[in-house]
Amino acid sequence: MSKLAYKRVLLKLSGEALAGDAGYGIDPAVVSNLCAEISQVLALGVEVALVIGGGNIFRGISTSAKGMDRSSADYMGMLATVMNAMAVQDALEKRGHSTRVLSAITMEQVCETYIRRRGERHLEKGRVVICAAGTGNPYFTTDTAAALRGMELKCNAIIKATKVDGVYDKDPMKYADAKRYTRVTFTEALTLKLGVMDYTAMTLAMENNVPIIVCSMFGGHIKRLMLGEDVGTVISVD
Ligand code: UDP
Repeated sequence: MSKLAYKRVLLKLSGEALAGDAGYGIDPAVVSNLCAEISQVLALGVEVALVIGGGNIFRGISTSAKGMDRSSADYMGMLATVMNAMAVQDALEKRGHSTRVLSAITMEQVCETYIRRRGERHLEKGRVVICAAGTGNPYFTTDTAAALRGMELKCNAIIKATKVDGVYDKDPMKYADAKRYTRVTFTEALTLKLGVMDYTAMTLAMENNVPIIVCSMFGGHIKRLMLGEDVGTVISVD
């Protein structure tokens, strides 16, 4: 078997990744395709923790802008991530993978509560750990939750799987000559405002020396990344 570039990874999926053409809600066919990609990674023997956003169902900040209390709106956003986590859990289990949803907000009838040591143990046993409810705190994002859980669960990299296969110097959808960065430092990414993840997530990863990798969620790119191929954009300390 080929040597793995990463033994344990934290995969961050935005809520929009689960939505179909409608742009909101959960599209079971899309979730199934996404889980097929994750399945390929698991087949390599990589340990996978997931953090899933909630923007396809609810985004706190936009609702608070319309007059709702920010914290209440954010809690609603966190609850939305739990629904997404359950949809992904179901799709992964249909493919025969063992999974656990660990929520930062206790809801014992629905899933386990996030306990770091328990999460680590699940990963060691080959279960997919799906971290739900973000950090459990308002005023944060699931990007920050991804960085935090990535550190806590001792992941070798945080992978931000998106619709685009990396970070480009200009919009690749609009410009044919757009160039993909293969490697950038955190300092460059922050200075150039590359918009990889929010600042809190980026600084957390930088201070703890864990790379963030932006890559496409489809086309077997995550698997190729695990095998050390040149896909996506690696953001690292040096
Ligand atoms: N959220 C929060 N604390 C967290 C994570 C998420 O308050 O630790 C709320 C916040 O309102 C956010 C919403 O949950 O807008 C959905 O998360 P996010 O916007 O990060 O999802 P994504 O853009 O990845 O779909």
